[in-house]
Amino acid sequence: MPGWEIIGKEESRALKTLFDEGGVLFAHGFNKFRKKFHVREFEKLAARKFKIKHAQAVSSGTAAIKIALLAIGVKRGDEVITQAFNFIATIEAILDIGAKPVMVNVDRTLNMSISDLKRSITKKTKAIIPVHMLGVPADMSNIMKIAKKSKIKVIEDNCEAMGAKLNKKYLCAIGDIGVVSFDFSKTITCGEGGMIYTNNTKFSKFIKEYHDHGHENNPKLARGMDSRSIYGFNYRITEMQAVVGKVQLNKMSKILKMQKQRYKELNLKLKNNFDLREVPVNSEITHDTFILFVNDEKKRKEIIKILDQKKFGTKNLPDAIKWHCSAYWDHALEIRQVKRSNKTKNLLATAIAIPISLKRSVEEYKILGKLILATTK
Ligand SMILES: *Cc1c(COP(=O)(O)O)cnc(C)c1O
Repeated sequence: MPGWEIIGKEESRALKTLFDEGGVLFAHGFNKFRKKFHVREFEKLAARKFKIKHAQAVSSGTAAIKIALLAIGVKRGDEVITQAFNFIATIEAILDIGAKPVMVNVDRTLNMSISDLKRSITKKTKAIIPVHMLGVPADMSNIMKIAKKSKIKVIEDNCEAMGAKLNKKYLCAIGDIGVVSFDFSKTITCGEGGMIYTNNTKFSKFIKEYHDHGHENNPKLARGMDSRSIYGFNYRITEMQAVVGKVQLNKMSKILKMQKQRYKELNLKLKNNFDLREVPVNSEITHDTFILFVNDEKKRKEIIKILDQKKFGTKNLPDAIKWHCSAYWDHALEIRQVKRSNKTKNLLATAIAIPISLKRSVEEYKILGKLILATTK
């Protein structure tokens, strides 16, 4: 959650400098009026940080998913596989281009179940969108293997696990395309925004042009005379967001370190007495949320009560479950897809999510761990 929790002085100083040096111009062009290209700098910094060739900043994570789907050539009527523990944005991006979302259940990692994925591939499947939920990487090794065999492209929705790694590689660098979000509730934030990552130059060319009305941003031509080969839309991010994003990106390792300290206290207290969310081998998680499974209804209620009383809340399990499980999305999905998601709904009904907040001290998490442990006595 924390980007918004440690935002202030540095970001505000960066914004002031922006207004002193040219203000709110587009990402490209208008060279006479400006000293800097902040969106370009933000992209360069982000690409370097995660060791991916191309990065394109856009207006939101949802827009990022939609553009990624278009880049790999998903068309009306194609099937796109994603998962039942998720956020509605992923489904909206699929629906917005006329494709059909196919829901796969999650396993006890709370990420995409590999066996259910295998069962769900058809001749119409064009893309798989695994979502690295709440800080933990999906089983990308198996997902990539399955996708390659069936010649399907993979888009990593990494809106909730920026900074996590699998086999020493940052997420977003493993699939064909990866996306993150910078909305206020994500690891780092610039209010709203997203980034699309890819090592594929052809996809990158489409992404750069599509998000900016088809502008090729030909360096030899003025913007008004620019060349074009496709039409697109406006999913640009602003220079204001980019200056904030740059500062926040530099805070990422500090944020991840602070999350880990807090998470560790809960883990120490609870790991021997509770059934915890499973984590894939060789992964480095972001410690965004601590999740435990409690089957006993009475004990579950008792723990949730402690979390409410101590003002931690339970993030989306169960607090905002209706926005995060496709068993509740009959307003958007075919009834078959809603029903398929029941298995995930039943698993999530036994889970409790403890948000890791930087506004609460390590000591407070230590005490919380003790209180929760006491319910087992
Ligand atoms: C936040 C989020 C999105 C959407 O990002 P926005 O920037 O808010 O549009 C998509 N997928 C997941 C899993 C998310 O958590």
